[in-house]
Amino acid sequence: MCSRFSFARLSRCRLLWTALWRFKSEAETRNRRKRTHESSSMKVLIINSGSSSIKYQLYDMPQGSVLAKGIVQRIAESESEASQEAGDRRIVINERVPNYEQGLDIIGRMLTDPEKGAIAALTEIGACGHRVVYGGETIKGSVLIDDGIIKLIEEYSELAPLHNPPNLLGILAAKRMLGNIPQVGCFDTAFHQTLPEEAYLYSLPYELCQKMKIRRVGFHGTSHQYVTERAAELLKKDKHAVNLITCHLGNGCSMTAVRGGRSVDHTMGFTPLEGLVMGTRIGDLDPGIVLYLARRGYSISELDKMLFRQSGLLGISGTSNDVRDLEQRAAAGDARAKLALDVFCYRIRKYIGAYLAVLNGCDAIIFTAGIGEGSAMVRRRTLEKMEALGITLDIEKNNAIKGREGRIDADDSRIALFVIPTDEEIVMVRDTFALATGKTL
Ligand code: AMP
Repeated sequence: MCSRFSFARLSRCRLLWTALWRFKSEAETRNRRKRTHESSSMKVLIINSGSSSIKYQLYDMPQGSVLAKGIVQRIAESESEASQEAGDRRIVINERVPNYEQGLDIIGRMLTDPEKGAIAALTEIGACGHRVVYGGETIKGSVLIDDGIIKLIEEYSELAPLHNPPNLLGILAAKRMLGNIPQVGCFDTAFHQTLPEEAYLYSLPYELCQKMKIRRVGFHGTSHQYVTERAAELLKKDKHAVNLITCHLGNGCSMTAVRGGRSVDHTMGFTPLEGLVMGTRIGDLDPGIVLYLARRGYSISELDKMLFRQSGLLGISGTSNDVRDLEQRAAAGDARAKLALDVFCYRIRKYIGAYLAVLNGCDAIIFTAGIGEGSAMVRRRTLEKMEALGITLDIEKNNAIKGREGRIDADDSRIALFVIPTDEEIVMVRDTFALATGKTL
């Protein structure tokens, strides 16, 4: 009797405690929203959780100034490293980070470090935006994350196995750490949901594509969107009036044909394997080769590994997936390194031709991401001898630009040529702020 009585009392206490806790956290959220609404300012954390790292930036919005940026690397490996810069204050923490929750905990510690941090308490953060790679045809823009969106990200994990699972772990860890603040998903696929049917449809049996939702969805959308908007500013044109070819050349590589500021064709497909030659990914391939190898006994997991991790620049050169290494090796006489770069540049060139036809000419071609921003050689090899198409590169201007914004076309080029360092975070933070406050910047 006595023990039943205590048990009932204990349950009532727990209920009361839960109700109080929920009331307190909702009151905190209301106050935070009220403060935000009144002052129109908000600190927004942007998180990009990759397969073994979490990159982040803390912004003061709406100004868009970066209060802190950092990275936790080699999560779940034997040695991890976390570092943060906030103004001229730098923190480095070397301790093992077994999972994403602990990764977020370290980020919380660094952000609130009394000497070198950026804020006094995590409750100052009003909203959190997350990069999510795959939202398929369902997601057409950034969205507030609720249980339905979490389920969707989980469902799409099968199609983006390298990206969606860590993206989701980052979201769940941030929800745990930051409590009941708006969390926003910014999807790499969203910018490409304007592709017309003729560009996104594969000529597989139509009913099969419908049933299994097989279509081109596209990737790197936030980057293509950012450089599109920036190119419009540089060209002094309305962003809804520019026609562009945007080349995102990094670890993953993709190109977009942009008409009137909207994506109308794109090189990556149903998965991020299609299109350009990449560091270790195959790009375009006769599907018959996959059937041929399967018939010869290659398993699905062997093919998966081959197409995602052993092909591309690494596959051809046999030595490296990094353009910097390959440039050095090629200069030193390594024929396979030179061949890898030849195939890489030729594929980009071929798609420039295709997209000029799609767009009936364009205002500008943009190069961005690690290779696009860093390699004058790749830009030259891609763009030289295209004068008949209205493209004339200024070799000296091109050689002078590395990792910074600049214009590289000759005076008589009909098409403008730009290097624009990508800034996916700024697109994400603007969307997150807008969805959290209802104020569009
Ligand atoms: P991202 O995915 O944008 O970080 O790009 C990473 C890739 O950019 C690396 O794998 C390198 O191949 C390439 N990269 C970075 N810097 C340079 C550079 N200065 N020159 C050529 N390639 C570069």
